Amino acid sequence: TATAVTVLGLGAMGSAVAERLRATGRTTTVWNRTAAKTAPHAAAGSKTAATVAAAVAASDLTLVVLLDHAAVRERLEPVAADLKGRTLVDLTTTTPNQARESAAWAAAHGIRYVDGAVMAVPAMIGTPQARLLYSGDHDAYTDALPALEALGTAEYEGADAGLAALKDMALLSAMDLMFLGYVQAIAMMRTAGTAAADTAADVEAWLAAMLPHGRGIADVIDGGTYDTGGQSVDFDRRGLASLINASREQGVRADLLEPHLKLLDELAATGRGASDWPRIIDRLAIRE
Ligand code: NDP
Repeated sequence: TATAVTVLGLGAMGSAVAERLRATGRTTTVWNRTAAKTAPHAAAGSKTAATVAAAVAASDLTLVVLLDHAAVRERLEPVAADLKGRTLVDLTTTTPNQARESAAWAAAHGIRYVDGAVMAVPAMIGTPQARLLYSGDHDAYTDALPALEALGTAEYEGADAGLAALKDMALLSAMDLMFLGYVQAIAMMRTAGTAAADTAADVEAWLAAMLPHGRGIADVIDGGTYDTGGQSVDFDRRGLASLINASREQGVRADLLEPHLKLLDELAATGRGASDWPRIIDRLAIRE
């Protein structure tokens, strides 16, 4: 039926997804490699399937939430014929090209494919704070939307199936670099006996004050001239050198900061020392 949904994978995320779909009144069929994990879902009212083929045959819409792309390929390739004409939404975290590979495979087998990326932890599923990004077949997305909206705020990124994963990876990259910053600060302050919790609170207040400046970086990059008179590459090189020296003086490795200085030095070496520092983005392009 239209409201039936199959969920493949009952790890932390898949379980939260299945639970939420049940809570919003949908008929759910679940499958998991380790069959024992289906028991609590069966007790809560889900149907269980012994095989992936039986699971995908039970609903027009299948959500797959496995560990990684390799697991998805391994489990779905044998059931391509069973999925024909149905909608597949892959919530598994992948790279953009892995999502595109799945989309090409689906297209070759007449499967309607939407790639998804979950910007949330399992406990947030079902709340508006959970952002779920989607890309791929727009008609399939529209048809699946009532079910997808039960999981959180749904955002469609475009027909290129890699776009949801691209944004997912970009936002996670930003988060990764930010949280490494906490660790660097904690390591430095620990040399003076400051508790990690105290430094984390200080970092939080500092970053909150600095956060509005992030959009200014975008304005400089969009402007494209790098001559707005803001902080220059050479100014930042001196600042970074001080950070690195201070860290080392305290007996703390500066390995996390060094790549930043390296990129700024590359800019200076090509005569860009007076440019606004966001010109660093030019150095991030991989040149073959
Ligand atoms: P878990 O480790 O909790 O669960 C992994 C799931 O994948 C299990 O159902 C496991 O089955 C299954 N699995 C692993 N390998 C295979 C395989 N070769 N064949 C079949 N099934 C396999 O992970 P999560 O539920 O946390 O994550 C699932 C996806 O959701 C990941 O891609 C993750 O990046 C993404 N995600 C998770 C978030 C989180 O906070 N947890 C946040 C955002 C995205 P079995 O039970 O048999 O081991």
